[in-house]
Amino acid sequence: MWWEARIFHAAEDVERPHAGSLLMLSMFLGLAVFGTAAAAIALPTFDLRTPFTRHHAEGLSAGTLAKAGARLDHEASKMAALAASSVDSHESYAETLGAMQERISTVRTPEQLRAIASMLAADNHRMRLETYGMARKLEASRAQLEVLHVSLERAQEQGLRDSLTKIGNRRAFDQALEDAVKTAADNLEPLSVVMVDIDRFKSINDRYGHQAGDAVLQAFAKILTRFARDRETVARFGGEEFAIVLPDTASLPASILAERLRSQIEVESFAIAMAGRLRVTASLGVAQLRDGERAGDLVNRADRLLYQAKSLGRNRVATV
Ligand code: GH3
Ligand code: MG
Ligand code: MG
Repeated sequence: MWWEARIFHAAEDVERPHAGSLLMLSMFLGLAVFGTAAAAIALPTFDLRTPFTRHHAEGLSAGTLAKAGARLDHEASKMAALAASSVDSHESYAETLGAMQERISTVRTPEQLRAIASMLAADNHRMRLETYGMARKLEASRAQLEVLHVSLERAQEQGLRDSLTKIGNRRAFDQALEDAVKTAADNLEPLSVVMVDIDRFKSINDRYGHQAGDAVLQAFAKILTRFARDRETVARFGGEEFAIVLPDTASLPASILAERLRSQIEVESFAIAMAGRLRVTASLGVAQLRDGERAGDLVNRADRLLYQAKSLGRNRVATV
């Protein structure tokens, strides 16, 4: 009958676009949830490869984190509200469909059937508009989360890098060392730490000014970086003291590397604006991880050896 064909057609109209919008909505919901999860995971995760200093740590400022956290919260609650309204909207649509199904069994005339078909079409149209609006809002939220994710990654990167020398800072050093201690214990590999302190650095500041001192620190960090291989971490430990983590290295090869480094520093001259070419020397302490030793104790031993090198006359390497 003509009205059967028409109802069938109307039902198709109702179902197809709706199924398409649902698919789109779930795609956006998936993306949005993925974005939220990625941003949330980025907050506490730090890259362990890079290095802290007492003097130049930029750190994750409390303000940056608070702002990022508030924005994340805002986007998450917007998405939760959208998801809730999507559920409401689908429930009301399902109710309409149910009610119409009941009415179809009581239909007596083609006009009644036509009325039902147009009500269904109108409700479907409303659903499509709502779903489209929601998809757009979800897309906007997803884009916001993407921006947030990138800015958090940048803040995180800055939190591990020394702003003066651009090498790792103390926090990154601590993390890299913790990691290396664990790996060494798991793989039964040796691990050494070298502490390096510039000799009589204060006199450079006193004689040529703080800026010249800064330039020496920058050039010094470059020399250390040149010596480090891929798995090794060079960091500014604080002030004019630097540290190197040497995974899979026993104290003998570590001392040989330290001695090469010391002699390179001694022969290298530092071109410093206003001060011409300066020569500096450094003292180094080398220690190898002992069985069951904690990262902090290893650093303390290397530091004590460094001060032994100082007291023996500076410009030398001390090891056990
Ligand atoms: P020593 O041989 O015993 O290590 O003597 P030193 O002069 O190197 O050591 P001391 O601890 O007496 O002085 C370290 C100086 O390093 C004092 C401090 O002002 C300076 N310093 C620390 N951080 C910075 C920095 O970021 N820039 C500059 N220019 N100086 C710094
Ligand atoms: Mg010093
Ligand atoms: Mg020092």
